[in-house]
Amino acid sequence: MKDELAINGGPPVRRDFLIFGSPHFEEDEINEVVQTIQSCWVGMGPKVMEFEKAFSRYIGTRYAVALNSCTAGLHLSLIVSSIKPGSEVITTPMTFCATANAIIHAGCIPVFADIDVQTMNIDPYEIEKKITSKTKAVIIVHMAGRPCNMDRIVDLCRKYNLLLIGDCAHAIETEYKGKKVGTYGDINVFSFYVTKNLTTVEGGMITTESDEYANAIKIYGLHGLSKDAWERYSDKGYKHYYVIYPGYKYNMTDIQASFGIHQLKRLESQYKRRHDIWQYYTKAFKDLPVITPASFEKGTRHALHLYILLLKLEDLTVDRDTVMEAISRENIGLGIHFVSLHLHPYYKETFGYRRGDFPKSEFVSDRTLSIPLSSKLSDADVEDVIQAVTKVLTYYKR
Ligand SMILES: *Cc1c(COP(=O)(O)O)cnc(C)c1O
Repeated sequence: MKDELAINGGPPVRRDFLIFGSPHFEEDEINEVVQTIQSCWVGMGPKVMEFEKAFSRYIGTRYAVALNSCTAGLHLSLIVSSIKPGSEVITTPMTFCATANAIIHAGCIPVFADIDVQTMNIDPYEIEKKITSKTKAVIIVHMAGRPCNMDRIVDLCRKYNLLLIGDCAHAIETEYKGKKVGTYGDINVFSFYVTKNLTTVEGGMITTESDEYANAIKIYGLHGLSKDAWERYSDKGYKHYYVIYPGYKYNMTDIQASFGIHQLKRLESQYKRRHDIWQYYTKAFKDLPVITPASFEKGTRHALHLYILLLKLEDLTVDRDTVMEAISRENIGLGIHFVSLHLHPYYKETFGYRRGDFPKSEFVSDRTLSIPLSSKLSDADVEDVIQAVTKVLTYYKR
């Protein structure tokens, strides 16, 4: 009594395509964006500052500096902390390419350390094995929103005098021992890309306790100009500005901040919705040939950014890509988080990485499949996802 799959000509579970990682916009930010446009102050200005203040309060750091992406923030982190070109920076291969690309943009060498399969996070033991005299920094990623082992990682960074950068792209709401993970790194970087828990369409933020880093990130992120250069156009009168470094163009705009201010206020209610969907999924998939996300570690809070299934390939007749194609054809959008970075052509060819180098990251890479987890999903959408996943996995079950 197997249902005919859409990929084989059967009727799809849904008529219209369910977008993966759908953003959740409401009237509040739509009105704010319109007001900002009508005010004619659309570039960097008071709304960016308001968003920064609210964000630093939410995370619990002294400083928050808004940028145009997380990628920009990762790049600037290495620039302002004076990590010299040629230095080695340890990171996880189980991440989005931006994490490692930023290391290369700063002239440094990305060195991968394998993960723990359960948490999909970088393994502190593997980090320690990769430390050399050239290692200057570690960039960790709180994968899917699950916190890394901060006690061990902070200890390691202290012991070897390494800069700790947190790629918190998935982890706005993530907590470890009662504190947001965005307080643990020397510099922590967030993404407000369309699919993230908070979106400004494109955007990013760094948080830090260091006034030196916060100031430098403002300067280097705006052409290397000596003052808060947006004052140039304010009603405070004209001020000269001076170039003190050939900086970058990484600032946020007031239009983006208009989204952010209201998205931030709704973080917790949207989290609750994702939490309900999460529990529902975990129950629904318990008899299918998949590994559902590990339960939450005591004393932590998972940001519930991605719901990742690991396919039990030994119990299936096809590979992940076939399963993915079949579920997509049922009109359910999916994501892959991630193809391990060391398997991408650039990283293979440039650093000589090969399959077999990071077995745990490869294990996840071959089996991973992310299903929709937006607070925007209706109950009927959630049912459709469950129905499509169940239909396809039942069909291909060995
Ligand atoms: C999305 C993402 C980024 C990049 O964020 P942008 O804001 O698009 O630059 C970096 N790291 C991880 C882990 C991500 O998921």
